[in-house]
Amino acid sequence: MDKNLSQLLARACDAIRNEIGTGQVASYIPALARVDPKKLGAAIVTVDGQVARYGDADEPFSMQSISKVFTLTLALEQIGEKLWERVGREPSGNSFNSIVQLEREHGIPRNPLINAGALVVCDVLLCQRSPDQAIAAILEFVRSTSDDASVSTDPEVAQSEAETGFRNASLANFMKSFGNLTHDVDDVLHVYFHQCAIAVSCAQLARAGLFLATNGSDPQTHRPFISAQRARRINSIMLMCGHYDASGEFAFRVGTPGKSGVGGGILAIVPDRAAIAVWSPALTSAGNSHAGTAALEQIVREAGWSIF
Ligand code: GLN
Repeated sequence: MDKNLSQLLARACDAIRNEIGTGQVASYIPALARVDPKKLGAAIVTVDGQVARYGDADEPFSMQSISKVFTLTLALEQIGEKLWERVGREPSGNSFNSIVQLEREHGIPRNPLINAGALVVCDVLLCQRSPDQAIAAILEFVRSTSDDASVSTDPEVAQSEAETGFRNASLANFMKSFGNLTHDVDDVLHVYFHQCAIAVSCAQLARAGLFLATNGSDPQTHRPFISAQRARRINSIMLMCGHYDASGEFAFRVGTPGKSGVGGGILAIVPDRAAIAVWSPALTSAGNSHAGTAALEQIVREAGWSIF
């Protein structure tokens, strides 16, 4: 562990401790409503192998929509540019589970990082795979990028999402009616709920995101996960779309590609330098971690890591 980096991280997180607990935990998924809103964890993994941890950095939390970055990567590897015939790559300006745009835009979601887009991505991953095989492929990808075979899905969270996922079921059925889902709606939802229920700690998540900061190849294991061009493009989608209708605010305050989840986690990518993961479960009205965003803003400012 690098002392300077650890000190920087501690200084940045200590400075925003009064933000912890502002906002609400995601109560619409009952299993997430039980999480302690006072948690704060953060981890930085740099491209040259330094690691820094703060607070609850080793406590697993629900990845939720951060998983959409990993499924997008897999789908692009699977069908390449053809993905863009079924999902756009523009910011939505709407909430993550909005249905309004879908009708006007004929069942083509604005981008792969909102729920509708992630459901299309799941449909792609179901090509030549059973739902269980698709879930296994997603888990395997997160395990290999994090270089940690212990990463798993929390079955209680997946079950809780399935029991209350009426909005996601609506989105999926709506897209099915436009012919933009080719598989059974229940199978698509099953895969989606399980990807969201993957549990990771900040330390695991930062490590899992590192390939996006290093042109698609893992700097430690040297595994070439994706091409440099694809890594750049995924980063650009994260920057523009990773925080839904608050993506502009995140770019303004933090200034890096990032992806949030309603579990309270955020993954931020600093190209050529580091991956950062933060976790604090209380959310803004847009569904992004309040204290997590404040921590990232402070970390990136202190490190001078904004891409702008
Ligand atoms: N599982 C959540 C949902 O489908 C994911 C949303 C999120 O993290 N923004 O609503």
